[in-house]
Amino acid sequence: MECFRENQQLSAWVGQRAQRGRIGLVPTMGFLHQGHTSLMAQLRPQVDSLMVSIFVNPLQFGEGEDLDRYPKSLERDQELCKVQGVDAVFAPEVFYPAGFQTSVAVHELAQGLCGARRPGHFDGVTTVVARLFALSRCDDAIFGEKDYQQLAVIRRMAGDLGFPVEIHGAPIVRESDGLACSSRNAYLSQSDRARAASLSRALQYLARSAQQGQRSVQVLREQALSMLDVDELEYLEVVDTDTLQPLEQVDRSARALVAARLGTTRLIDNCAVEGD
Ligand code: AMP
Repeated sequence: MECFRENQQLSAWVGQRAQRGRIGLVPTMGFLHQGHTSLMAQLRPQVDSLMVSIFVNPLQFGEGEDLDRYPKSLERDQELCKVQGVDAVFAPEVFYPAGFQTSVAVHELAQGLCGARRPGHFDGVTTVVARLFALSRCDDAIFGEKDYQQLAVIRRMAGDLGFPVEIHGAPIVRESDGLACSSRNAYLSQSDRARAASLSRALQYLARSAQQGQRSVQVLREQALSMLDVDELEYLEVVDTDTLQPLEQVDRSARALVAARLGTTRLIDNCAVEGD
């Protein structure tokens, strides 16, 4: 497995097209866990060359967010990648060229949910992903449903701008108590870690209640809210699976999404909601 710290090294590797075959990309911010390795495992058999990018992208962090303390563990990350049969890790020290002043923005899909709480966040995401697609010349890229709105935004961007990249979605990987794996779980104190499982429990309860015939989103929300043990709720919404527009009734394929803070840690989770 190769590890590139410079854009030029990546370009040289990618440039040998005949040797690379179909290139698959797993974009990450590092501090890898089972959620990340599941993406590698899903994409590995579908491509000839598998690349993982590790870059904590400043553009997607707002003021006062955790950019400066975001956890890092490049050596351990490389080991995990090796185990998954990754061919190349791209962990650039400098990613954006001097004078960089371009942004890529998806509009409607990026407005609500996390977009409303983190202004500019998705512009940072689409910009970094667009540049990663261009540099890596990947044929396939995979993103987790853990960041459900991000996946929708990236699909839209790739389609709208005509990137020749097949976008794959991957199911959420969870800890044994249901908490979705996240690099940010490392911030949680022991007591907050126990309370954090209330996010997935509330979502599961909501999904089950909908399946058993409860269609009113107001009722479903109230039930789920009563189960949350968090310090600050950012949102708990039931939205259309594709448009991410809020629903009043579960009368189509839907998704419940939640964002909340425990202490200073911001967690997100979501699950499918199907009517009976
Ligand atoms: P991040 O390093 O947080 O930017 O995540 C990189 C990729 O891993 C994104 O596509 C995430 O959606 C995905 N991911 C993170 N956590 C999980 C998880 N628990 N299950 C599945 N995918 C995940």
